[in-house]
Amino acid sequence: KLLSGDNLDAAEGSLEKSLRPQTLAQYIGQDQVKHELGVYIEAARKREESLDHVLLFGPPGLGKTTLAMVIANEMQVHIRTTSGPAIEKPGDLVALLNELEPGDILFIDEIHRLPKIVEEMLYSAMEDFYVDIVVGQGPTAHPVHFPLPPFTLIGATTRAGMLSAPLRDRFGIVEHMEYYQVSDLEDIVKRTADIFTTPIKPSGAHEIARRSRGTPRIANRLFKRIRDFAEVADQAAIDEIIVSRSLTYLRVDEDGLDETDNKLLRTMIEYYDGGPVGLATIAANIGEETDTIAEVVEPYLLQIGFLKRTQRGRVVTVKGYEHLGLAYPEHK
Ligand code: ATP
Repeated sequence: KLLSGDNLDAAEGSLEKSLRPQTLAQYIGQDQVKHELGVYIEAARKREESLDHVLLFGPPGLGKTTLAMVIANEMQVHIRTTSGPAIEKPGDLVALLNELEPGDILFIDEIHRLPKIVEEMLYSAMEDFYVDIVVGQGPTAHPVHFPLPPFTLIGATTRAGMLSAPLRDRFGIVEHMEYYQVSDLEDIVKRTADIFTTPIKPSGAHEIARRSRGTPRIANRLFKRIRDFAEVADQAAIDEIIVSRSLTYLRVDEDGLDETDNKLLRTMIEYYDGGPVGLATIAANIGEETDTIAEVVEPYLLQIGFLKRTQRGRVVTVKGYEHLGLAYPEHK
């Protein structure tokens, strides 16, 4: 029986948690990353050492936080999660580090947004497990050497280029997460449907997977909305037809692009003859943050070949024109 009404929110909280895979084996896709991490985790456990620091690169929603939790579970240690912008001053970092037990994991999402002064403090913490802090003020101020237990820092970032070299170099393990293949997203959707006890046909799972921008977070979000549509339509199982109908309503197009994606392509074509044009200009034109364009919108459009990067800016490709049903200009 599908849940509905008042009890949905409460139930969804715990369902949401159960959606997170617990082990590497349950974590779907990202085979290369999983294989490598599996080796490093096993080696660290055999040596009874803490895992080397891990840096995860990749667009939002690909399961970086989820993977950090899986790593903690596989290492059988605690994990503290925070994010770059949340750590405002060195004292915040010291407080977090102070709570760690030997071998524990500190997960910092958006690590490229750490204040410089905090980042610099991380260097000695990561390398030699200590921090130097200044205690007191004015004439009584003095430095205190503060030893830390060996711990593992897992950093996640969407933008490779934003991380300073000294910080990047202190991560022994660096993993790039790729957009998911349709077949992996199908498995993720089927698993989610299972957890929500919602019947779904293979054609339905395939259609959601195909239109999720290679991103588990989007696949799961669309699944939940489509499940609502199916329930209201009294549909026994989610199939391709109800998926298509719901996605039209949700303004997700045939290729899984949303309104922002299409607006970006259309603006580049209508105002800039398909480019080349710079990111900031595009962002200003469509009323989005440059960061959002750079971290969320553009990477997928590049990945599926609708956009191309050139020395002078971004250009819309033949495929991009075709997607909007427009002819590629002959003069190009
Ligand atoms: P990120 O930190 O990269 O932005 P995240 O770890 O916060 O992403 P979510 O965006 O929360 O991941 O992912 C949505 C949900 O998708 C997760 O709660 C999890 O249930 C599921 N999920 C993500 N990746 C996988 C995966 N590889 N296998 C199975 N389920 C996954």
